[in-house]
Amino acid sequence: MKRPFILIDMNKNPLTSEPMLLLLLLLLLPGLQRGAGARSVEGTPTGPLPPPLLLVSFDGFRADYLRRFPMPNLKRLYGQGVLVEQLTNVFITKTFPNHYSLVTGLYPESHGILASNMYDPVTHESFHVGPATDPAWWDEARPLWVTALDSGYETAATMWPGSDVAIGNRTPSHFLPYDSDGQGTMFTALYWEEPDWSGHIFGPDNDTAMSRVLKEVDDNVGLLISELVRTGLWGRVNVLVTSDHGMTQCSAERLIRLDDCLHPDNYTLVDLSPVTALIPLRVGDHGYDNSLTSMHPFMAAVGPGFRRGHRISSMQSVDVYPLMCHLLAVPQQPNNGTLDQARLLLLGAEPYWEAPVVVGMVVGVLLVLTTITGKARENIFKFGTTIHFV
Ligand SMILES: [Zn+2]
Repeated sequence: MKRPFILIDMNKNPLTSEPMLLLLLLLLLPGLQRGAGARSVEGTPTGPLPPPLLLVSFDGFRADYLRRFPMPNLKRLYGQGVLVEQLTNVFITKTFPNHYSLVTGLYPESHGILASNMYDPVTHESFHVGPATDPAWWDEARPLWVTALDSGYETAATMWPGSDVAIGNRTPSHFLPYDSDGQGTMFTALYWEEPDWSGHIFGPDNDTAMSRVLKEVDDNVGLLISELVRTGLWGRVNVLVTSDHGMTQCSAERLIRLDDCLHPDNYTLVDLSPVTALIPLRVGDHGYDNSLTSMHPFMAAVGPGFRRGHRISSMQSVDVYPLMCHLLAVPQQPNNGTLDQARLLLLGAEPYWEAPVVVGMVVGVLLVLTTITGKARENIFKFGTTIHFV
């Protein structure tokens, strides 16, 4: 039995297009209509299938927009589900590295998508954001849609970075290519990249402009909810709404002129991240240190797997991947995340200590004790034997 798993990147996905949204939701229906079944993949335990998962990303949705602007539809979504007020994302706080971290649970140094533009000094190849990039750039990791395919699921993605690339020779079962210009595809007229685009142009502190665009964003969430209700999917699929990064106000007064420090003949400009930008033409930007709260997005979720009306203050964005693996009952690939925080969001979840964590803590305590008592390394082994009795 195939059960779809769908990713939507609101950066490029036109939810203003009802037929497009409906098409995506219809992909979710067959698995539900056939009811609980069993996967027929070798080595995979048979049993009831988990609910389908719908992952939605709004580009550049800074966490505090939720508090500063009325967003009734989004509030309705997490009011019936869960909210992570701030997601600590990964450096650099750019679109491609963060979207790939969300679906791999890996930091960029491990998944390989370090920036929007990259240069490989070994192969002398360059990477630029756009459709159908060379799989070699992405092959360091296995995104969730590949693992879900391996588990016998049907998958779909629209414009999610990397989803149009044959990673490990596989793309999602259904996908639409990422198009950085929104041109040349049948979705051109429906191009959507908010609230990131307005954040760059007007700056996140411009209440008038941002309230207008965030109303549009929230209206799209309302459309998503109403379509889920209309197709009978509301309450039967897990829906996860998040973003890749926040946005901060820029100022020409806080400018370091690179030309004053380094002659242009002495370097090749690879990427225009804030750390190399020469002149701030835009009043809002992202890409800065991921420890800054202005760079953080949020995460909201609703569905049969989640608690109702529960919120936590923060979580790491690399923890979203193990959470999604848990919801889909697929094995995690090696990753930098953990379920420790995310478990608090799950229905029927009680905080509990995983066995490796307990062993790690015991070993840690014993190491401290050993150091304090001034006893040497051999005592670790002596103390270590007590682990078997813990
Ligand atoms: Zn972005």
